[in-house]
Amino acid sequence: MITVSKEDYLKAIAEAEGEGETVISATLAHWLAVTRPAVTAALKRLKKDGMVAVKSDGRIQLTSMGRQIAERTIFRHLLIERMLAEIFGMPWYEIHEEAERLEHAVSPAFEKKLVEKLGEKDTCPHGNSLALRSPAERRKQGLCLLSEAEPGFPYRVASVYERDRKLLDFFEHEGIRPGTPLTVQTRNYDGTVSLAIERKTIRLGAPAAEKIWVAKLR
Ligand SMILES: [Zn+2]
Repeated sequence: MITVSKEDYLKAIAEAEGEGETVISATLAHWLAVTRPAVTAALKRLKKDGMVAVKSDGRIQLTSMGRQIAERTIFRHLLIERMLAEIFGMPWYEIHEEAERLEHAVSPAFEKKLVEKLGEKDTCPHGNSLALRSPAERRKQGLCLLSEAEPGFPYRVASVYERDRKLLDFFEHEGIRPGTPLTVQTRNYDGTVSLAIERKTIRLGAPAAEKIWVAKLR
């Protein structure tokens, strides 16, 4: 049994918001894979603690205190992922889940040590950065989804969606990692894209291609 903590709720609200979703209790039930009654109970506690506000239309918003805790947890998640990858050499596709557990145990003193050891960097080993969280912010930086990339042009994988372990295992198996150069050969009628990666060609379905942000190489 995984216990979903207060921090997980606050983080999920901030992250779902960041991805442009309207956050209602169904969003959280889906996002955290918990039941609706569990969300209702958690929201009640979070409201009492002054962490969230629930609008009359059901929209959930973080208070400034709630946002502070969410941002702290997101930052610690990034630090733990970097620690696991950079110090312990753990594979990039395994670290997210580990960080989900460890992020809650980081004290301010340990956080400081991690920053000293790892150096300042705002990007995690999946290519996701604190500054570019929403699709709009990513597009402003010239990124696009792999499913929208122009055939014939060289791209580089900028980031991948990290909350789905099976998807990450699949990407690793296909040789798709943050930083990987690739070219879209054709966008196919069946919604798949044919990609040239290193010396092989693979066909990727839309559900996977929509989980990868790419940057055009020039
Ligand atoms: Zn990450």
